[in-house]
Amino acid sequence: MTITGGCLCGAVRYRIEAEPIQVRVCWCRDCQFVGAGSGTVNVTFPTEAVQVDGELGDYSSLAASGNRMHRRFCPRCGTPVTTQSEARPHLLTVRVGTLDDPEIARPMMTIWTKSAPSWASIDAGIPCVEGQPPPPVVPPKA
Ligand SMILES: [Zn+2]
Ligand SMILES: [Zn+2]
Repeated sequence: MTITGGCLCGAVRYRIEAEPIQVRVCWCRDCQFVGAGSGTVNVTFPTEAVQVDGELGDYSSLAASGNRMHRRFCPRCGTPVTTQSEARPHLLTVRVGTLDDPEIARPMMTIWTKSAPSWASIDAGIPCVEGQPPPPVVPPKA
């Protein structure tokens, strides 16, 4: 499966050779800044499957989850393009609005609903988690 996308101005383009691992809507407080008042919709891939052409700016901060996140954006048009946790460098998350075909990334779960404003429209048809969902089960380090 080949998935393509890029920023609003076209200075940044990407190509992904993988199936989406997960698609989630996030209403954490940070995402409301990125989403201009709404939550963000995010699709995760294996990092090695994503090839980005063009330069991305990087804003790093501590997320509500306690993880250090790198939110990368087009320095020219400001479009948020990717996000990545230092705790999970093997995963790269792409902002669904930048996909050439956002139709392929239907959300599976909504997270951080406790930070959402009361007027937020949250899909009751998919699982909702109040805060950070439990991390994926990984084998302990030897
Ligand atoms: Zn741009
Ligand atoms: Zn968030």
